[in-house]
Amino acid sequence: MITIKSERELELMRDAGGLVARVLDMLEQEIAPGMTTLRLDQLAEQYIRDHQAIPSFLRYVPKGEPGVTPYPATLCVSINEEVVHGVPSAKRFIREGEIVSVDCGVYKSGYHGDAARTYVIGDIEPQVQQLVEVTRECLNLGIAQAVAGNRLHDISAAIENHARSFGYSVIENMVGHGIGSELHEDPAVPNYGKAHTGVRLRAGMTLAIEPMIALGRSRRAISKRGEWVAVTEDGKPSAHFEHTIAIRDEAAEILTR
Ligand code: MG
Ligand code: MG
Repeated sequence: MITIKSERELELMRDAGGLVARVLDMLEQEIAPGMTTLRLDQLAEQYIRDHQAIPSFLRYVPKGEPGVTPYPATLCVSINEEVVHGVPSAKRFIREGEIVSVDCGVYKSGYHGDAARTYVIGDIEPQVQQLVEVTRECLNLGIAQAVAGNRLHDISAAIENHARSFGYSVIENMVGHGIGSELHEDPAVPNYGKAHTGVRLRAGMTLAIEPMIALGRSRRAISKRGEWVAVTEDGKPSAHFEHTIAIRDEAAEILTR
């Protein structure tokens, strides 16, 4: 069931979303070669708790997957070929030339905000730099379609078409989602699909739109049994940008700005 949020609920989601944006801004200032991914996680958790909020991902258990261990951290930090769900670690040092995708969710006053950015560490290969830029553009083009009266897969098609025009692959088994009092609500928001199909978008729907785009040919992100991190099938780098948005009549409102 897709929920429609009231103005009061949107106000609370703007508050949670704004905090996510400030966490990602703070991390953008702090991230540097030689840091561990665990250190990034500690900075984020402290910042969130200092602002009377709770990390959404910490101890998260995916629905319908009994036996999966609860997620152990505040952030997902996914480097290079890691697509999503990289678990922060004291052993993983960030290095020059890498791309680091950081996904952050916060829960505040009963609502979640969820956003992700891929940070570039120092000088990186031009083709990887372009992947990062294009993935950010994919998110913006998807958001541009997220207006009342359009259909859900108008968002998906805008993302897919832009990625494919550069020869990139879209990770198909990881998708965006509705969001609100639950971190993951209906509908699923795929990063591929046919324009003019899917549910009609209505003002007050809130979506986390999150393209995951890869160099190479991988169409899936795969995990080893018992591991959270999901990587491209061919080991090529992948980028990830995400915003939580509200559907409005004229243009989407970005809640994680
Ligand atoms: Mg996220
Ligand atoms: Mg998300």
